Amino acid sequence: MNRPIVKSVEVKAANLPLRRPVVGKVGRFDNWAVLITEITCNDGTVGKGYIGPYLANYMPSIALTIKELFSNFVGKELAPYQFYNEIMNSTSLMGRSGIATYALAALDISFWDASAKIANQPLCEHLGGSIAPVKAYNSCGLWLDGNESLYDEAKQLMERGDFDVLKIRLGRDKLEDDFKAIEYVKKALGNENLLLCDFNQGYSLPDAIHLLNNLDDKGLYWFEEPIDFYNYDGYKELRNRMKTPIILGENFHGPDEAFRAMEEKIADFIMPDLMRICGISGWMQTASIAAAYRIKMSSHLFPEVSSQLMRVTPTADFCEWTDWSEPMLVEPFKVKGGNVIIPDVPGSGVDFKYDVLEKYKVQV
Ligand SMILES: [Mg+2]
Repeated sequence: MNRPIVKSVEVKAANLPLRRPVVGKVGRFDNWAVLITEITCNDGTVGKGYIGPYLANYMPSIALTIKELFSNFVGKELAPYQFYNEIMNSTSLMGRSGIATYALAALDISFWDASAKIANQPLCEHLGGSIAPVKAYNSCGLWLDGNESLYDEAKQLMERGDFDVLKIRLGRDKLEDDFKAIEYVKKALGNENLLLCDFNQGYSLPDAIHLLNNLDDKGLYWFEEPIDFYNYDGYKELRNRMKTPIILGENFHGPDEAFRAMEEKIADFIMPDLMRICGISGWMQTASIAAAYRIKMSSHLFPEVSSQLMRVTPTADFCEWTDWSEPMLVEPFKVKGGNVIIPDVPGSGVDFKYDVLEKYKVQV
């Protein structure tokens, strides 16, 4: 059967304002920098996707890399997984992380969207799964700013979409303030519901040991990235010392890094990021590795595509939900009963409001 031929690519960028600024140990962000990649096939199918490389100033170089990588595919029959493997197997000159991974991810997501559209199936069905509600948590708030307001904020976060799982960021200057913050959020959430927490790699190992010892009996579902992701020995030590499961994974650049982390047993759970893990193809490989290690896998950002990937992830746990991309989406995904609802449309269900992209445009 002849597949459509890949013809052209278009890349756009925007810096979308966030409803609630992100204030974590990594810094403060008022905007969400997005790169939109659209590939067109000779039958007119357009595959669409976006990545969020955090730093708007780097987007022109990533856009250039996307276009350069794309030149490998022009004139070929659309074959997303094959394309991914071809590039991954020939990356010795560029490396398998950073901008190269982001650029390949951007193309991979759009190739899969086109492929699912051609098959006239929702992405998760195209990948061999089915549509169903995907268990999620609302990750749009509970940052390091504000303490007394956290009760109200938690209530608001639960209200939209009936969420019963939330994530709080920890790492205030005083330990007491973290305790109070947890208390306010738990009061709103109810003790029967899960509260996750994230330290955004903010601590040295000795400080993390001190802090986590004090938090270990607070009933938190996981401790996310207390220390620098690359400190493998540090993570092994934390796992040995703590009862609360340790999770990391948003900093895996490609499945190789995910494999190494699982092989070295540095985390109880993982949470790859669609962009950094290298798109849908990179996710699928990582999901298989996690299944082999019996490690629960959650997602990081990009809830539209990630929710569909969770439907074909054998050890799927929680989908991280944020509203960051909503302003630019024609049909933001619905959230109901604490679940992301996958739309029954061909492809990933991601389409863009071009006037919004134009309004917040970044030249690339
Ligand atoms: Mg995190």
